[in-house]
Amino acid sequence: MILIENVAVATVDAAGTEHGDGHVVIGDDGRIVAVGAGHAGRYHGPLRRIDGTGCLVTPGLINTHHHLYQWATRGLALDDTLFGWLTTLYPIWGRLDAEVVGAAAGAGLGWLALSGCTTSMDHHYVFPRDGGDVLEAEIEAARGIGLRFHPTRGSMDLSRKDGGLPPDNIVEDTDAALAATEAAIDRWHDPAPDAMLQIAVAPCSPFSVTSKLMSEAAVLARRKGVRLHTHLAETDDEEDFCRERFGCTPVEYAERLGWLGDDVWLAHGVHLDDSAIARLGETGTGVAHCPSSNARLGAGTARVRELLDHSVPVGLGVDGAASQEASHLGSELRQALFTARLRGGPKAMTAREALAIGTMGGARCLGRQHDLGSLERGKLADLVMWRLDGLGHEGIDDKVAALVFGPPATVELALVGGRPVVERGALVNADEAALTRAARRAHRRLMKKSD
Ligand SMILES: [Zn+2]
Repeated sequence: MILIENVAVATVDAAGTEHGDGHVVIGDDGRIVAVGAGHAGRYHGPLRRIDGTGCLVTPGLINTHHHLYQWATRGLALDDTLFGWLTTLYPIWGRLDAEVVGAAAGAGLGWLALSGCTTSMDHHYVFPRDGGDVLEAEIEAARGIGLRFHPTRGSMDLSRKDGGLPPDNIVEDTDAALAATEAAIDRWHDPAPDAMLQIAVAPCSPFSVTSKLMSEAAVLARRKGVRLHTHLAETDDEEDFCRERFGCTPVEYAERLGWLGDDVWLAHGVHLDDSAIARLGETGTGVAHCPSSNARLGAGTARVRELLDHSVPVGLGVDGAASQEASHLGSELRQALFTARLRGGPKAMTAREALAIGTMGGARCLGRQHDLGSLERGKLADLVMWRLDGLGHEGIDDKVAALVFGPPATVELALVGGRPVVERGALVNADEAALTRAARRAHRRLMKKSD
């Protein structure tokens, strides 16, 4: 068992319960035994006691949108729109292989853990023919770090010759993509409540995927009981593409294809009109909000206040490391808060709403709200203890405000199912220097191959 005491606690439960001086007790089954004010009761048996003085415990952050492979192609097309950036990067991504993806995923997931993330999804949609088993490579990387992992089997089947954006050599055949997606679910997906690994179905975007693949992917996911994810309503260019090709908005297009529902979460949702927001709310369709990526690509600012007011499940995402070089989930709390306020003024989002999006909102997007996202008795012990008594935070008495408004906080401890993945700002299960070296080698190898 683990007992954390003398610590501020923000549970992010439905009532927003917080304790200025509280405790969390974690059982051997990796679930929370108790959380409350003051000292914990007496417990027998082997016990690790942790003094949380100067720290705040929150649920672990949940990353709802990422492309881990992009860690190998950071810092390129720095001043481009999404479509310009993609057109530059597609040819490089066409040379990906399992070794590059494994190294990039190790770096990206290690960095996420250090930024307070305990569960991450990944959206992988590039499967070069001779690239080996890239999905297996990133799953192994996640196991090496110790994070809970929700990789999605992505796909693209609409290339330039058919009016799409990607080059012909990096798309798959429609039926082959569907078969590979089903095989990935059969091989990897664990439906258990305490699963460390779950698969979702994730065709890439309206401008890189045919309507047939979109609609059949939805049928497949529902037959298998797994979730659906895609990019939607990210840029004006995408809106123009949908209006010209399908005669409707991206959300109307998604609805036509069976892509709205409480088993779907969409990346971005930046360009949504009032009726689209209402439909997402009515159908329980989630949105992965990626404010730093949207800013980096100049894509726009999502209407998060309105999404929350319509009860849309909103989670936070760092998005791929090539369109958001920082990829630091802890910092996205602040970025989300500031983005909402730039749109709607200082009342548009509170620090606690930002924290709730990054935790419970993410759990809802991934369908894990019964086991993750808040600190409550019986839930999985995925939590982060943030150090807030150093120069950067000391003097901000409201600990949640210190975390969200202040500079990125050091992760004193991060637990996934009660198992430590970060302690005193360092990875427990992996060597940061080795991850860095592997990522450097992967980047150099990929760029060399691309010459
Ligand atoms: Zn993305």
